[in-house]
Amino acid sequence: MKLKKGDLIIIVILVAALISWLVINNPGKPEDERLIVIETNGDIYKEIPVETGMEQQEIHIQFENGKYIDIIVDENGAYVKDVICPDKVCQKTGLVSRVGQSIVCLPNRVVVYIEGRAESEIDGISF
Ligand SMILES: [Zn+2]
Repeated sequence: MKLKKGDLIIIVILVAALISWLVINNPGKPEDERLIVIETNGDIYKEIPVETGMEQQEIHIQFENGKYIDIIVDENGAYVKDVICPDKVCQKTGLVSRVGQSIVCLPNRVVVYIEGRAESEIDGISF
């Protein structure tokens, strides 16, 4: 079987059409629809939607007595970069990236958790 120049062009067009079809039919990946929620004292302090390619954000929360917590949020999830905290359990938790994971800082009464924005996590494939 020999490929002619014309066949090659058809293949290229088909591949290009397939790629654009996939892009059009995939407007967003539901598994990436995550929301990082930061709570202080049981109240929502900030909610940040996780988006691919989003810029890294540093959330600095100042407490009384000069205490503070620095939380880094980016497309990978969230982690505590710096904190004034006696046990530093929150910092040792490291990165949380999946829905349901959380960072808890009991001494400062801060909770960081990841919530799913989509109703279903499995119903993502539509073709
Ligand atoms: Zn802590």
